[in-house]
Amino acid sequence: MIVVMSTNATARDISEVIARIRSIGYEVHLSEGKERTIIGVIGRGRPLDRDQLGLLPGVQDVVPVSHPYKIASREYHPDDTLIPLNGIEVGGPNLAIIAGPCAVESREQIIETAYAVKEAGATALRGGAFKPRTSPYSFQGLGEEGLRYLAEAREQTGLPVVTEVMEPATVQVCCDYADVLQIGARNMQNYALLHAVGESQHPVLLKRGMSSTIEELLMAAEYILSHGNMRVMLCERGIRTFETATRNTFDLNAIPVLKLASHLPVIADPSHAVGKWEYVESVSMGAIAAGADGVILEVHMDPDHAESDGRQSLKPERFAALVSKITQLAPIVGRKVATHTPAAQHG
Ligand code: PEP
Ligand code: MN
Repeated sequence: MIVVMSTNATARDISEVIARIRSIGYEVHLSEGKERTIIGVIGRGRPLDRDQLGLLPGVQDVVPVSHPYKIASREYHPDDTLIPLNGIEVGGPNLAIIAGPCAVESREQIIETAYAVKEAGATALRGGAFKPRTSPYSFQGLGEEGLRYLAEAREQTGLPVVTEVMEPATVQVCCDYADVLQIGARNMQNYALLHAVGESQHPVLLKRGMSSTIEELLMAAEYILSHGNMRVMLCERGIRTFETATRNTFDLNAIPVLKLASHLPVIADPSHAVGKWEYVESVSMGAIAAGADGVILEVHMDPDHAESDGRQSLKPERFAALVSKITQLAPIVGRKVATHTPAAQHG
């Protein structure tokens, strides 16, 4: 249930509604929009009398929310959520282009790649220091050493850093070094991890589980939001289907579905969806055209020798060509690329 306050409701009206909701055993979540305040009624209390709440001063409407996710829903927060990231914002009119290697492999590699993606017009740098690999014998990432190199790359280039966190115990160290905590597909329903990132105020990039429904993704986001962290970006990274031509199947439908259902920014990950670099450009363009708020792309200086995901990694020159295509597409869909590099440098 959400309580929509009228535009001229006073602070006292709002606190009286909050007190009434709490008195019957619910928690409240406030959404203070440009024009009005919306009060989310959260939790499991005694049965709510909609009509009685509707009679309180300043209340315009009491709306039942039929979805199991509440704080993530558009009803609760009609405006797009904007997520601040080192001087730019993700969401709204902005397109974010997050790029970098699957894994941080060495100090030289991440710094060289950071400069290359920045030069091409990237908004942020990605790189995994803790890698969730299918095989225990594959490269597992450099751990904290990798985080230090990422932080150094950020210091040198000014690009904010996105990195994956795999367990609650390393949330703090990831927060110390990185700007965005990525929750990987394999951990989308790791509730202890969702709880832990929900208690930080760090932006979170939450990837859709490889066999999860859109509603399950939104419920995972709800865990983070309900623990107090409102800075959540949703990420469509492809789902498992019977198709074998590509690594996963990019669910283009998820983009308009999520944009309508939720106020949270939606980032597309074409690299993990298709698994082959030659399809990354088309799917990136399709995702932006469908309303995504940005893309996260794997870029490697030498994909043939990458420790992980080389097959789907773009070389910097192909990445630069894609950024320029996205930049041309952006105004057609009412967007602009959020960039740290002066536009003049990459036309
Ligand atoms: C990654 O971003 O490198 C990654 C492991 O992604 P996913 O969790 O989507 O498989
Ligand atoms: Mn990867």
